[in-house]
Amino acid sequence: MEKPYRILLYYCYTTIEDPEAFREDHHRYCADLGLLGRIIIAREGINGTVSGLESACKTYMQHLQADPRFADTQFKIDEHTQHAFQKLHVRVKPEIVHADLHHIHPRQKTGEYLTPHQLEQIKDDEDVILLDVRSNYEHHVGKFKNAVTLDINHFREFKSQIPKLISYKDKKIVTYCTGGIKCEKASAYLLEQGFKNVYQLHGGIIRYGNETEGEAFEGKCYVFDNRLVKDINQKESTIVGQCYVCQTNCDRMVNCANPLCNVHVPLCTDCAEKLGGACSEACNQNPGKRPYNGTGYYTKKLNGYDPYKGLKRKLLLSFKSLVNKL
Ligand SMILES: [Zn+2]
Ligand SMILES: [Zn+2]
Repeated sequence: MEKPYRILLYYCYTTIEDPEAFREDHHRYCADLGLLGRIIIAREGINGTVSGLESACKTYMQHLQADPRFADTQFKIDEHTQHAFQKLHVRVKPEIVHADLHHIHPRQKTGEYLTPHQLEQIKDDEDVILLDVRSNYEHHVGKFKNAVTLDINHFREFKSQIPKLISYKDKKIVTYCTGGIKCEKASAYLLEQGFKNVYQLHGGIIRYGNETEGEAFEGKCYVFDNRLVKDINQKESTIVGQCYVCQTNCDRMVNCANPLCNVHVPLCTDCAEKLGGACSEACNQNPGKRPYNGTGYYTKKLNGYDPYKGLKRKLLLSFKSLVNKL
């Protein structure tokens, strides 16, 4: 199948003095290129995942890296048959990943970077601990073999997990996540908490899958676009997830069709058919349930978000100045 589209995953910790103004220009730039996806802007940097035609993605990457603030942004690039998003959201938030670790600046201190090949070399050493800093719904469908996982439902709970990691204090800890961004702060926080040997997989599971044969990974990698999961291990395919309803092996991730529930769970095709894409009979009966189209992926509601907010204001201003001139 032809794959004329690219999916980009990237982040950059830097300083953006005026995130609102940057958001407006950046949004317009992305819209003009026909990109779709989600980009988060904060004073501390940028975090994005977008899809678009190959040439548009190339232009975008060059544009971003030409700005000295984002010069060393590393892009993870996947090929795809179509767009991986339905809309373009560019939002300003307090952090580029919600961690409640506002005081941590990865540019000043963070765990040592490991490339995928460096990870391959040390991962089986006795004193190495692979620490998955992602949430339950992510590591339940796939993770590095023998990795330590955390029982958390959101990354902002990471801080609360430190007491459980004390026994690894004298080990070499290698943190990993989907694309590397969570590790920037997670590894920095471990250093702050007195852990001495802290490393991070630079570029995360996605880069590992793109630069190696992915042998150390089992199951699939949960991703934040409408693919929902991605294959990493090219040598053997294992299923580590279990259907939420019938417990058979299953790594097919869906969002529950009941928007009030909306859990991300593995759900086999049989159960999904029976329950209309819902995670339970109760959710299936909910009057607000969304129609199930066989994918289990639903476009997020805009919640009052107006992507053209800034654009309209600028048009209005230029219109006013035009009127004043007349
Ligand atoms: Zn099932
Ligand atoms: Zn549900």
